[in-house]
Parts: sequence; structure tokens; C-alpha cells
Amino acid sequence: MEIAIIAHDGKKAEMIQFLMDFKALILSKNIELIATGTTGKHAEKAGFKVTKYLSGPYGGDAQIAARVAEGKTNMILFFRDPLGQHPHEPDIAMLMRLCDVHDVPLATNPATAELLIRSI
Ligand code: PGA
Repeated sequence: MEIAIIAHDGKKAEMIQFLMDFKALILSKNIELIATGTTGKHAEKAGFKVTKYLSGPYGGDAQIAARVAEGKTNMILFFRDPLGQHPHEPDIAMLMRLCDVHDVPLATNPATAELLIRSI
């Protein structure tokens, strides 16, 4: 199962905390993590094996959106910062839209991500 993790800068600490909280579960299942560049680097530092794509503002969200469209990514954990402004807002909207088009589970905050990850 391929799960994409993406966190805006204001939410990266929460993403790493989330990964650590569910580390045993993530490692025990056959989960392949993919991530936007900087989120992936943080996850690697925390001890996870991650396939990294471009950083979000440079197209990473768009790359992951393409994987959703191709049926390769099964779940997205996307901790968005609702208080920040993002130059790549069109890419973010595209990713979320494609999750809806292809009925791919998308969590945009830790509470929802916990429900999804526990359901695996
Ligand atoms: P980043 O991208 O992980 O490279 O910071 C996340 C984003 O801004 O979408």
C-alpha cells in the first residue's frame, strides 16, 4: 500500500509526531511511504524509508497528484497549514480534486489521519 505524506512548513512537526506515534503500525504493515521533498527529508531523519519527490512549491504535490490519477497512491496524509499562504495553491487544489475524482482517502489533519491509519 502506498501512502503519501505531505506537510506544510507550519505542520511538519505535527507530521513527524504523527509518524512517530504510529511508527510500529506503519512498519508492521506493508506500507510504502512517498512524500514531497522537505516532508520526506524530515521523515527520513525520523527513521522512515521514504521515496521523495520534488518539494511542494517546485511540483511535488503535482507529482503525487499524478500518482493518484494513475492509481498508484492509495492514501494521502496532507497536513495543510490553513493559516499560511502557498504559492503552489493550484497544485494543492489539483491534488485534492484528484483524490475526489479517484475516490482516494485524503486526511488533511492529524485527527482524520489517525482514523485512516488505524483503519488499515
Ligand atoms: P515540502 O512540500 O514537503 O517540500 O515542504 C510540502 C508542500 O508545501 O506542499
